[in-house]
Amino acid sequence: MSAAIAPPIESVQAFLAEKHQLLIGGRWVPAAAGETFEVENPARESVIAHVARGRAVDIDRAVEAARRAFDAGPWRQVTPSERGKLIWKLADLMEEHTEDLAQLECLDNGKPLAVARAADVALAIDHFRYYAGWATKIEGETIPVSVPYTETRFLDFTLREPVGVVGQIIPWNFPLLMAAWKLGAALACGNCVVVKPAEQTPLSALLIGQLACEAGFPDGVINIVTGYGDAGAALAAHDHVDKVAFTGSTEVGHEIVKASAGNLKRVSLELGGKSPAIVFDDADLELAAEGVAGAIFFNHGQCCCAGSRLFAGPKIREELIERVSAIAQNTVLGDGFDPNTEMGPLVSREQYDRVCNYIGSGEEEGAQIQAGGKARPEGLDRGYFVRPTVFTDVNPDMRILREEIFGPVVAVQPFEEVEEAIARGNDTEFGLAASVWTRDIGKAHKVAQGLRAGTVWINCHNVFDAAAPFGGYKKSGYGREMGRHALELYTQVKNVIVNLG
Ligand code: NAP
Ligand code: MG
Repeated sequence: MSAAIAPPIESVQAFLAEKHQLLIGGRWVPAAAGETFEVENPARESVIAHVARGRAVDIDRAVEAARRAFDAGPWRQVTPSERGKLIWKLADLMEEHTEDLAQLECLDNGKPLAVARAADVALAIDHFRYYAGWATKIEGETIPVSVPYTETRFLDFTLREPVGVVGQIIPWNFPLLMAAWKLGAALACGNCVVVKPAEQTPLSALLIGQLACEAGFPDGVINIVTGYGDAGAALAAHDHVDKVAFTGSTEVGHEIVKASAGNLKRVSLELGGKSPAIVFDDADLELAAEGVAGAIFFNHGQCCCAGSRLFAGPKIREELIERVSAIAQNTVLGDGFDPNTEMGPLVSREQYDRVCNYIGSGEEEGAQIQAGGKARPEGLDRGYFVRPTVFTDVNPDMRILREEIFGPVVAVQPFEEVEEAIARGNDTEFGLAASVWTRDIGKAHKVAQGLRAGTVWINCHNVFDAAAPFGGYKKSGYGREMGRHALELYTQVKNVIVNLG
């Protein structure tokens, strides 16, 4: 680790030292039981903050505050234009606090500071602005009805109304951005929310809470309960919650669906993935090699849409493996605050152990390591660093090919024909994303149509925009976040029929 790493800016140091409480009904309050938990910097394995540990009783308080704000409170009276302005104001405040948000994201999650700044924070701000625009454009429709059994004529129209109180459970891989994806659409549609950030990475959501108070959202519209999985489970099961939106593991996704059954609340799920990146012989190899390496190594492989299964055409296979392995070997690992760092640590000890176990299982099952491996990177004795790892000589039954690793580990497989690429790309229980690399436009579209995935990238991977919908097929979940499609998640339709006489 380089010696010349700058410390966090003063405002971040002051924020870390604060007593972090729960945001309930517009007030910062301690957890009912007075419990707190530690927040760790994964690059140094050091405690950087303490936050309140909310439990089921705190979820109750937050849900009731959200209910009051929705059912009786001022939020329903706020005009769409005012809602849009509040969301835009929050985006402006986030922009003013770009460096604070980026540094917190880097310290909390481990990602390089420059990446947090340019990707996470910038996209999150843009996301709020995109949905600020939608607040005034959520419209119903008029429907020309005939009602054939009577002479009476009717006017039929629909109102698109908010669903009410929404529980939002956030993962740790993009803590700020995932909070933005969920909050932007829900608020634009006029809902009240209770947010449960991941236990590993609660800090940026807490700063968003402070900025939301400053922006002037009425009390109870945005509530934040930091805590563990038990708090998430209480939110998913709560009878006064109208909808729950979850991003995380497929395993917990199953639990959420079960928990939602009590009051039949709406559910949207963005779950795991095992996304294929398919490189044909006619691809621009330089672009493809950089692209498929980024597909798996970006965010240290902790992306639900990571391109963890790489399929290489027969003529370019060897060169592609060489190029991707070289990129892996040359990646500079280190503290996210070090400007030279290209890849930070994994988020936690648990995730480090998990990913190392997968690398071990690949080796035990006979796969060959072309780059990386379990050994710690040189010079990094502390922190949850895993080297970017490339496996070849794999078969589709190995655990490293069937299960989501959520680390910087890619397995390369051969294929010969287009149909085979589609079939093998689809040979997974997941269906979140895929990328196709070829100069043949017809082939690219044919493969894109054949793949059962919610997003297909052609000659790119991990490209996101607030306007483009994102979500899963199969066990990767259901519902689409972002774009106009997310409005479906956070509104419901009321049909009104008027007797015209
Ligand atoms: P996880 O358990 O699914 O956590 C996601 C969120 O759900 C966190 O806020 C978590 O709280 C909460 N949670 C946990 N148990 C819950 C329950 N029974 N009911 C409601 N909410 C609950 O994910 P993880 O344990 O952090 O990571 C495990 C694996 O999940 C990863 O290795 C990766 O494969 C996958 N994952 C996928 C994504 C994605 O974007 N699709 C994101 C993160 C992880 P706590 O933080 O307190 O557990
Ligand atoms: Mg968990």
